Amino acid sequence: MPQSDTSSTHILKPMSAVVEGKAGWSKSGKTNLFSLNRQALEQYVVSLGEKPYRARQLLQWIYHKGAIDFEAMSDLSRSTRQTLSEHAAIELPAVEFDSTASDGTRKWLFGLGDGNSIETVYIPEGNRGTLCVSSQVGCALDCSFCATARQGFNRNLTTGEIIAQVWLARHLLLKHRLSEGVDSKSSPITNVVMMGMGEPLLNLTCLIPALDLMMDDLSFGLSKRKVTVSTSGVVPAIDKMTAAVDCSLAVSLHAPTDTLRNELVPLNRKYPLRELMAACRRYVDGDRKKHVFFEYVMLAGVNDQPKHARQLVSLLDGFPAKVNLIPFNPFPGAGYERSGKAAIARFHQMLTAGGLLTLTRATRGDDIDAACGQLAGDIDDRSRRQNKFSAPRFGESGFDKSEAST
Ligand code: SF4
Repeated sequence: MPQSDTSSTHILKPMSAVVEGKAGWSKSGKTNLFSLNRQALEQYVVSLGEKPYRARQLLQWIYHKGAIDFEAMSDLSRSTRQTLSEHAAIELPAVEFDSTASDGTRKWLFGLGDGNSIETVYIPEGNRGTLCVSSQVGCALDCSFCATARQGFNRNLTTGEIIAQVWLARHLLLKHRLSEGVDSKSSPITNVVMMGMGEPLLNLTCLIPALDLMMDDLSFGLSKRKVTVSTSGVVPAIDKMTAAVDCSLAVSLHAPTDTLRNELVPLNRKYPLRELMAACRRYVDGDRKKHVFFEYVMLAGVNDQPKHARQLVSLLDGFPAKVNLIPFNPFPGAGYERSGKAAIARFHQMLTAGGLLTLTRATRGDDIDAACGQLAGDIDDRSRRQNKFSAPRFGESGFDKSEAST
């Protein structure tokens, strides 16, 4: 989808003032402006003795003009720039790895400066560019087929760490475009999916201001249809998010019955399908334009049989659903295999025949472990889950460090 449906068509090329890949997060204790949505930024500048309209100027500089050096913000007075330099910062992660797959999928490992790293993935597809963003360092939910789960969990990302992924990815993509002689003003990022490492709805406090910034015309200006939060089913948080912000919802379903889902997505034991589907109905709330994406990873012999297709049709009967079938992306020690093409095609056909709008997702970025469920990062694991598994960490499973371009 071209960027012309958003207000970000005027995004400029990266400025020379931009600092990229600086070593780690600032330890200065300054306020990170990436963490503040428009309302919070207005309050912040007022607290510094500035007029509220300075927030508008700052947002435009940071997100439309790509500036993170206050000195480059030429329509701010000298005293304002000085005040900001003393009290605020715009903090970027370090680019630890940057690799592009043969299909154009690009994966970054961003270092947070505290020993942890997260992964962010860009998936170009025609006029569309989707950025898959992480919300936590690792994940505590332990889905049995997920590479991130094997790495354990350390902490939630801040709003600034979520937004910095979008800002830095866009900057690096624009820079690459320029290096190839393409001087397009449209943003390479047309869609954001909160489907990277972590369960975003277990980090709601930091997620909501980040979503605000993604959809604010003064920052990234993405439409609500183009910002999707994916959850494994944190039922109370679905309601809270719906009350706070209007964006698209995806549910990592992966099984049509509680018995099977308890095994694949252990959170189901806490919030079973009946409660999850009720929360999805509250999200849609009779709005005929709304629907929920249901993600369903295809695991050979586990959830890909005809009976599972029939059960899924029955579960989603009458619900405004779109089903995404995701061929499983194996990783060492996964214990699962990808369903065969014939099994996926049969499953797809049965869902379609049952009246479900169904897509089978093309597998992207396999050769750099950037495919769905393969994000692993480098986590200082507090949950000690890594001790349970022998799966290799990032960089040990085929990712060639020499491919890093920054
Ligand atoms: S699939 Fe998502 S929720 Fe489940 S463990 Fe992996 S990152 Fe966490």
